[in-house]
Amino acid sequence: MKERFGNDSAFIFFPRCDAKLAPRNIVSDSSQCLISAQHVSRSYDDGQVQALRDVSVEIVRGEYVAVTGPSGSGKSTLLNVIGGLDRPDQGQVYFAGQLMEQPQQLDQLRRSEIGYVFQSFYLLPTLTAWENVQLPMLESSLAARDRQQKAKQLLMSVGMGHRLNHLPTKLSVGERQRVAIARSMANDPQVILADEPTGNLDSKTGQEILDLFDSLHAAGKTLVVITHSHEVAARAQRMIEVRDGQIVSDPTPLQA
Ligand code: ADP
Ligand code: MG
Repeated sequence: MKERFGNDSAFIFFPRCDAKLAPRNIVSDSSQCLISAQHVSRSYDDGQVQALRDVSVEIVRGEYVAVTGPSGSGKSTLLNVIGGLDRPDQGQVYFAGQLMEQPQQLDQLRRSEIGYVFQSFYLLPTLTAWENVQLPMLESSLAARDRQQKAKQLLMSVGMGHRLNHLPTKLSVGERQRVAIARSMANDPQVILADEPTGNLDSKTGQEILDLFDSLHAAGKTLVVITHSHEVAARAQRMIEVRDGQIVSDPTPLQA
């Protein structure tokens, strides 16, 4: 692997947008670049596992990006690092021109700017669908009634308005993922990061979830979706391929 995808054959990165030029900690609203990772590395087990090796990537506002690659290639690590769930050992990640650095600032981004969807949904089993969607709003300034109303609207928007009071165990896997998507939208994030969101779903249910992503994208959300599925990748505007901790292909980037 290493020989095949060593530095010589790795994708050559050309900056597409201006986030990396923004001064440290200055938010640049005019920037089209929503996320910019610069020379990011992440290793595990005291450096024995190099999950990401000097990766640079930029995500433009409104893009729908698919991330593909073999199992163990570093896709989840990349998503976690650009989503502020994990910190790189080296390199920088900017969100809307702001360096993602301080724990408080990361908390804020995770709460209000970034929505996450995972293969295993991670719904709280003791809470109803409705309560699960309200959960991320608890720290917002919304009154309880507004929280409830918003969660209801979100669940209706993903076709789950008739299952508000169901516990996750009483829902099908596809329905659980719908609830998880509604939850990811709770605080109106700018970007949804999804890690194999259709990995546990049959193909018809997976298609329905993809239709939902299409409508989120049409509504202006930026989407970054890790997938093994060609169908998912085909719906995205841009496909990034990760191998052995590096981006080896990124052929159709949008112009900033
Ligand atoms: P992918 O999502 O493409 O399957 P990951 O980003 O999950 O890949 O993992 C990349 C590499 O890092 C793999 O070799 C994996 O075993 C390793 N890895 C991921 N998370 C950890 C961890 N918490 N501790 C040790 N190794 C890890
Ligand atoms: Mg993964």
